[in-house]
Order: sequence, then structure tokens, then C-alpha cells
Amino acid sequence: MLEFAPTTSAQYELGFTSFMSDDIRFSDEADPSRAIFRCEDCGAVVRGREEARKHMREHGYENEVAIWANVEELAERLDDRTAILWSVGIRLRLTPPGQPRVEDLVTIGDMVWTNYSPEKGRVVRVDRYEVHGLPCYSIIYVPLDAKPLKDGRYRESDYCYLNELVAQDGRILHLYETNDDEVFYKRRQATIMDYLRG
Ligand SMILES: [Zn+2]
Repeated sequence: MLEFAPTTSAQYELGFTSFMSDDIRFSDEADPSRAIFRCEDCGAVVRGREEARKHMREHGYENEVAIWANVEELAERLDDRTAILWSVGIRLRLTPPGQPRVEDLVTIGDMVWTNYSPEKGRVVRVDRYEVHGLPCYSIIYVPLDAKPLKDGRYRESDYCYLNELVAQDGRILHLYETNDDEVFYKRRQATIMDYLRG
């Protein structure tokens, strides 16, 4: 099976760092007292940074790094399209109910490219997972001219990863609202039709 690439984004890392520092904020919306944390030891969900700290100390975690390494901040849903990480005030995208998800828009064999790189690739896998308690996707693709090995796989260096993706209004965007990345796609069938039409 294809190895799954790490999906932790720079912003997530910044968010993590901010749990330990009481000053870092990404917007005026930040309100650490409203931040929701899930304890990875017992699964408890706790609201408020101070409460989370207290909870983790009851598990025996004393230093800040250990405390925040063992909790995940969960985003709170604001409306059908938006959730927020209260610790830093970052807004996250949601797929509105009834709209196609990334897995409905893109499948194996489709062509993808991005707004920051016009180079097209062929999708070999679409993965669903959760970040901050919200569903998001990775699209794994290979260059159009990549040659599969005998077992059908590709060389490790051929695999490219687009991570933390969410669909909105038929577009594929990054989970973080402040991130302008967009993934464009063309269904495989359309590609064959185009080819037949010449
Ligand atoms: Zn706990």
C-alpha cells in the first residue's frame, strides 16, 4: 500500500505553538477561554485553555510541551460553511450539507493541478481523515508522464501530495480560510471524450 504522507501544515504547527504561548493570535476573534480540546488519553472534551491545562495535569503531565502534545484542539462550527479554532482565531472551511465532498469531485484517474502550479497530474488516491475534528482530504497524484513499475505502483519520488482539502461549491480549497490554494480537476471521462473529439 501507498504510504500516507504527513499532513501537518505550517499553520497547524503555528497553532500548536500558540497553545503554549498565551500571546499568539491570528485574529481578533481569538478567545482561548472558548477553545475546545480533546484529551488523547481519556477522550474527554474540555472547553477553555486553562481547563485543558488543569485536566492534563490530573493525568500527570506537568510541562507545557507534554500537556499540549496530548490534546487536540477541536474546531467549533459557526455555520454551514465555517468553523473556528478559538485558541488563535483561525477560520476553517466546511463543506455545506448536500454539497459534493472532495471524494465526490475527484477520483482515481482524474487530472488535477493547482492555482500555484499549472503542471497536471493523474490522481492515484484520495484519502479522508480528520483535522481539528473536521473532515478533510488528501489527493495523491503522479505526473502525467510517470511510468508505473511492474506491480502498478510508482516510484516514491513520483508521488505528489495535496493535503488538508475541503470542497465548497464544487471547488477544492484548503481547510484554512486564510490559505488561497485551490485544486483544479478534470474528470477522467471528460479527458477521454476530449481525446475522442480530437
Ligand atoms: Zn483526559
